[in-house]
Amino acid sequence: MTGRKTDQPPISCTDCCATLQEYLDGSLAKTESMRVFLHLRTCTGCQTALEQWQATFGLLEAMPALGPPADFDRRILAAVPYESYRSMADLRQPRVPVILAEETLPVWVRSPVTRLAGMVMAAAAGIAMGWFQAPPNFAYGVVVGLLPEAVVRLQGMLRVATLALRRSGG
Ligand SMILES: [Zn+2]
Repeated sequence: MTGRKTDQPPISCTDCCATLQEYLDGSLAKTESMRVFLHLRTCTGCQTALEQWQATFGLLEAMPALGPPADFDRRILAAVPYESYRSMADLRQPRVPVILAEETLPVWVRSPVTRLAGMVMAAAAGIAMGWFQAPPNFAYGVVVGLLPEAVVRLQGMLRVATLALRRSGG
């Protein structure tokens, strides 16, 4: 495709130099890139600028990749003033052991539907035993039915107690 005409006007040296970095990155639009390419073929001044960019890019790529030093974390933490950290104590969320966090229990156990259904089942099993002389293994129904509610409540009480203890301890 020799002698193909572009419908784009020729690019000026100023515009060419301003887009050289993107040209090398390959981030220019196709037509723009072509205009720069055509200009570079005929303009030694811009060719020199291009070579300088290429040399700079080459230097940057030859530089070793730098990571943070091994004791980076420790130095950052050491630079944090301990007094201001302490003064923000009220802003920090009081923490409880993971086992006491609400999210530890599966959602279906925490669900009000499960808890209510369990209590209804426990009540039904209890009534069956008390009024209709149901066999003793109906007691399992009572225990299993009350379990979700009991677990959620017990965890809640322990969490409140733990938080109260932590707060009083400072
Ligand atoms: Zn030029």
